[in-house]
Amino acid sequence: MLKQMQQQIERLKAQGATYVDARWYPFEETNALSMWNGNLKNATSARESGMGIRVLYKGAWGFSASSDLGDVTGLFDKAFDNARVAAERVTFPVRLAEKDALQAKFESPCRLNPFDVPLAEKIAFLKEMDEKMNQEGVFQRFGDLTFVRKQIVFVDSEGSEIEKLITEVFSSLQVAGLDDQGEMFERKYRLDRQGDSRGWESIDRQLFSENAERIVREMNQVRAAEACPKEDRSVILLPGIMFLQTHETIGHALELDRILGYELAYAGGSFVTLNDFGKLRYGSPKLTARANATLPNSPGSFGYDDDGVPAQDNVLIDKGILVGAITGRQMVEEANAKSRREIFKGSSGANRATSFYRVPIERMTNINIDPGTDGSLDDIVRNTEKGIILDGDRSWSIGSNREQFHFANEIGWLVEDGQVTKVVKNATYKGDTVKFWNSLSAVGDESTWKVEFVENCGKGQPNQIMQLGHGVPVCRFDNVRIGE
Ligand SMILES: [Zn+2]
Repeated sequence: MLKQMQQQIERLKAQGATYVDARWYPFEETNALSMWNGNLKNATSARESGMGIRVLYKGAWGFSASSDLGDVTGLFDKAFDNARVAAERVTFPVRLAEKDALQAKFESPCRLNPFDVPLAEKIAFLKEMDEKMNQEGVFQRFGDLTFVRKQIVFVDSEGSEIEKLITEVFSSLQVAGLDDQGEMFERKYRLDRQGDSRGWESIDRQLFSENAERIVREMNQVRAAEACPKEDRSVILLPGIMFLQTHETIGHALELDRILGYELAYAGGSFVTLNDFGKLRYGSPKLTARANATLPNSPGSFGYDDDGVPAQDNVLIDKGILVGAITGRQMVEEANAKSRREIFKGSSGANRATSFYRVPIERMTNINIDPGTDGSLDDIVRNTEKGIILDGDRSWSIGSNREQFHFANEIGWLVEDGQVTKVVKNATYKGDTVKFWNSLSAVGDESTWKVEFVENCGKGQPNQIMQLGHGVPVCRFDNVRIGE
């Protein structure tokens, strides 16, 4: 098949195509299970294969994809035909940033292939966790497991030949209970990065059991708690909410296609403009954020993106100043041309497609915040006069240009004069993105840094679901409105 793909690419080049690439998925398999109150609610398996082809002709893209590879010539011709039609209506001719042509392989770390594990063993795990969560005060119990394994072969007209084998494991536990007014409260645990490998071995019974006990205990504390006060306080965000803060108000805001207005009709724009790069004080000097697709063992690390560009570790915000974006080959050329300066020196290697039947678009890799020098969580609490520790995402609402946000949390712990005093329920906080990041007053050290996984980030029309990670420390922000 590889040979056939290369021959087809040469054929279209000879017919005048500027650039051609093809992504062949020999297989992509998924297996998802969920258990609700002890009942197996869902157990599905799927397997598909196919190919997607992009052709660039006179500044316009054409795309075709099929799971039927009986007529590969026809499939390539269709992509070229689509590019020819699109070339009649070009508003801004597509150019691609330079890259090196690579012959490479990438395999995500996996010791035990989850597709070799019998279904009965997966169900037994969910059953065991369900029993652990079946405690007084728990009204609903939920557990899930999701496994993905896919092989991708990428070739292009510039001489690239890249093969990837990716295995993903996601899992979560959740409990819900009612307070004496009948209001429901939830607490969940999501599997985060554990060690250097993520196959079936990451479904660690002891780890999950400890977290099952913890979420039951904390949910019961919230049920019995008083309401969160409505006032201004310092908020201390644990990784279980810090990842979402980073995702929504740094990650999405810095996707270059969004900055250029390509997502306006669907996922929204960004308050960031091309003039802001190198200038905008996005956050306090304690804030350094990066897109690091080289972090081992995370869904945001994939070796090479779907432009064939190697994974990189790029700074987005350097000591508070905006310096970088999440980019692919096409958008950096367009941004540089439109701003009449060279903001971007090439693709940052973040163009990804959810599958063979979608075109790649700019997606978050691992959008991380560097650990800081303000010590452990205990150190930060000790140095906080009037604050609240927050964890868990309960609901979220974000301005369409990512300029404001409101997050509700699963749990809050009030802090008075350096001491944790009590748990509160219905904890929320809100703010304006730039003002909020500029109020960052403490960043925890390595001991507070965790890599949280995001299984279902949505973007694009037609919609594309993407997986990624966020390595984030505990952070404190001052003068934040809470409780409303
Ligand atoms: Zn998202």
